[in-house]
Amino acid sequence: MNLREWLEEELTNKEIKENISYIIEKAKTLDKDYNFMITFNEEDPKDYQETKLKGLVVSVKDCFTTKNMRTTAGSRILEDYIPPFDATIVKRLKDAGAHILGKTAMDEFGFGSFSTNCAFNIPKNANDVTRVAGGSSGGAGVITRLLKGEPHVAIAESTGGSISNPAAFNGVFSITPTYGLLSRYGLIDYANTLDKPGVMASSAYDLAFILNTIKGRDERDPTTHDYPLDFLKVLSSFDPSNSKIAIIKDYEERIIDKEIKNSLKKVIDFLVNEGLEVEEISLSLTDAALASYYVIATAEASTNLAKYCGMRYGKEGDVKGKHFDEYFSEIRSKYFGEEVKRRIILGSFVRMAGYRDAYYIKALKVRSKVIKEFKQHLLNYDFLLAPTMPILPPKFEDVENLRPHEVYALDVLTVPVNLAGLPHVNVPLKTTLSLPAGLHIISDHFKDANALAMAYWIEQNYKGIF
Ligand code: GLN
Repeated sequence: MNLREWLEEELTNKEIKENISYIIEKAKTLDKDYNFMITFNEEDPKDYQETKLKGLVVSVKDCFTTKNMRTTAGSRILEDYIPPFDATIVKRLKDAGAHILGKTAMDEFGFGSFSTNCAFNIPKNANDVTRVAGGSSGGAGVITRLLKGEPHVAIAESTGGSISNPAAFNGVFSITPTYGLLSRYGLIDYANTLDKPGVMASSAYDLAFILNTIKGRDERDPTTHDYPLDFLKVLSSFDPSNSKIAIIKDYEERIIDKEIKNSLKKVIDFLVNEGLEVEEISLSLTDAALASYYVIATAEASTNLAKYCGMRYGKEGDVKGKHFDEYFSEIRSKYFGEEVKRRIILGSFVRMAGYRDAYYIKALKVRSKVIKEFKQHLLNYDFLLAPTMPILPPKFEDVENLRPHEVYALDVLTVPVNLAGLPHVNVPLKTTLSLPAGLHIISDHFKDANALAMAYWIEQNYKGIF
């Protein structure tokens, strides 16, 4: 039963609870092979009949706080952290009657593109266990694909592509909304000016439904905005025939796997056959955007991580007889993973006196230019289309041989749009293999509902959906 059928069905409390229990059991069994969950919620299902979401099952990336449920952000340093409060999104979902299934696997603090930088379990791709899940929201992507057809959605987070990447690698729909559309209160931060909560699901319809429940202003997060539009209404009244569409040529040129090239070509041909005009644009700042992202993201991350030092949060050690420097270093050396240490060093370096102007300030300037370049095109086009990732999900053994900067370089298609805080939707596409490719639909700030409506229209009309 998909989400739409689930919501329309007349169900008794008992039936709802039975269904939740069935999904929990199914997830626990699948988890043995796929490793997508860090912590399962052990609470019993409550009475859900009169609620809006009627016991819809939601998995939550482990960087959102959940009251009385362990929240690790994928890090050993938070291994025993039990938050006393729910993130706003989690609270809104619970209040609307969702059942939280548990906390999904992720790269430590969100640092990664494959979910192989995990302190705990490393999730495996839903379509081939020898391949990576994508990152950093890998667990969310895997479980969403494996629970396709069940009333389930996943809450994830993106700083520089962590929602789209695993959505594309596992073959599910996802939205990374405009920065500020969803509250970051209770999100364990990676880089505050970039972090965006988002959703993965088996259909664009489900994404719209969930956004209606969790969107909008939160007084605890001053960067949030009201979003009065009803996503489902926009979906049902959408007519693509007046849309102006452009494909990003520079992104197409960066595709490495020809399967992705072919899938993209097919969907563009379909749009053209449907009478839509698809033009080409160029984004000249693509490589500069990638460099700028890794400077800004690591600079912010290195300050955010300063709070994990063995005092207020997470692991503690024996302080007796130690200078505070020695104690902090001991805790951080012991519990942070390799990629976390790399990012602290990089981030501290780029904002050090003497280097700040050359790196951090310059990166901020590039960011402004990237935003301007996108905005200029979005004056002329409603949607920008692009491949989501340049490669199909790689095998674990291939990822092991990549150097850190080679991994960063694979984010080149997802990072710029995140730097600009623009909404983007992943549409899963078939290839000739049993693996998916991803189509990115990008729209202007706060045109999230339009991007989703376009994705839904493609989902309904195009035969090549994975
Ligand atoms: N791969 C990117 C990084 O490592 C993006 C991660 C994210 O969006 N959380 O920074």
